[in-house]
Amino acid sequence: MSEQMQNIPIAKPWMGEAEADAAKRAILSGWVTQGPEVAAFEQEFATYVGAKSACAVSNCTTALHLALLAVGVKPGDEVITVSHSYIATANSIRYCGALPVFVDIEPHTYNINPTLIEAVVSDRTRAILVVHQMGMPCDLKAIVEVTRRYNLPVIEDAACAIGSEILWNGEWEKIGKPHGDIACFSFHPRKVITTGDGGMLTTSNPEWDKQFRLWRQHGMSVSDTVRHGAKQVIFETYPMLGYNYRMTDIQAAVGREQLKRLPEIVARRRLLAEQYREKLADVRGLKLPTEPVWARSNWQGYCVRLPEECDQKQVMQTMLDAGISTRRGIMCAHREAAYQIEAWSCGSDRLIESEQAQDRTLVLPLFHQMTEEEQERAIAVLTTACQV
Ligand SMILES: *Cc1c(COP(=O)(O)O)cnc(C)c1O
Repeated sequence: MSEQMQNIPIAKPWMGEAEADAAKRAILSGWVTQGPEVAAFEQEFATYVGAKSACAVSNCTTALHLALLAVGVKPGDEVITVSHSYIATANSIRYCGALPVFVDIEPHTYNINPTLIEAVVSDRTRAILVVHQMGMPCDLKAIVEVTRRYNLPVIEDAACAIGSEILWNGEWEKIGKPHGDIACFSFHPRKVITTGDGGMLTTSNPEWDKQFRLWRQHGMSVSDTVRHGAKQVIFETYPMLGYNYRMTDIQAAVGREQLKRLPEIVARRRLLAEQYREKLADVRGLKLPTEPVWARSNWQGYCVRLPEECDQKQVMQTMLDAGISTRRGIMCAHREAAYQIEAWSCGSDRLIESEQAQDRTLVLPLFHQMTEEEQERAIAVLTTACQV
């Protein structure tokens, strides 16, 4: 690698003066947490995804926790989900004292295999938590068909899927409408837009939306904004156990600017993914991700499955030596020490595709500012590394 060649990161947020100005505006306004900027961000977010309401919280993990509580998940319950996800997905279930029941994934989309769900439904199943992994919509039509029969609420972990679309009754709709009961988003810097940290819940159920707003602010009956604007003295009450899951106005101000950039970001990511698809198509044995006909991914992650004879770590090292960052496939929660817990009822022999996806794939660099030249370099090095 020549001296002046820049290392290529796996991801990079796209932020600029607009975000910096927005943060400054919030700071100088005198109102820095959960105030007018949060309210405006929620409105704009709801409009973007086509949701009835959106409630901002501190991150996607806390969003998932509140979503599970809202649908009534209690200690001793079971929640069906995938092991093959960032560990926060399964963790949120355990915050409720419930047990995650892991189902295997489909090898091509890295999403939950809908045909395996029915077999693990029990009389303790309270909900299903599905993931749109790396931005690729999961097969919600097939999932909802099963869950309807058992009257199970569907929560969507849409942490990575802002800007992704699904074909729904003949129309392309944004993930987050939601198509299940509640969708949860993340604004961590590894996702497509960021507020540093941050999360959002969308739902069509006004009762749940109201509930989220109480829980995120210590279960307090009157919000700060209402009390601030009141002409008469109000004493707040605490009718329930709440949490501090607030988003700050500084974050929300940044998020509003990020949301404006989102259409451009998604278009760029789709173009970069298309170029990967075209230019890696001929690498023998390399399997590229494909979109089902009913899905449009934002390509938060572009994950390729290596040829049989390639060693994952070796390929990653070769790329790293050439200044190109990659990551191995998405983790499996059930393999972590934190998950050597009593009875998640689906044994690892039934999570073969999940384990294979972790061990045999890698995620390539893909970010808005990635240049043609950088992508060519990544493609060239990967192509060579796969020819063993
Ligand atoms: C990133 C991520 C989360 C956690 O999001 P935070 O905002 O960091 O809490 C949850 N689920 C999935 C699938 C993720 O990728």
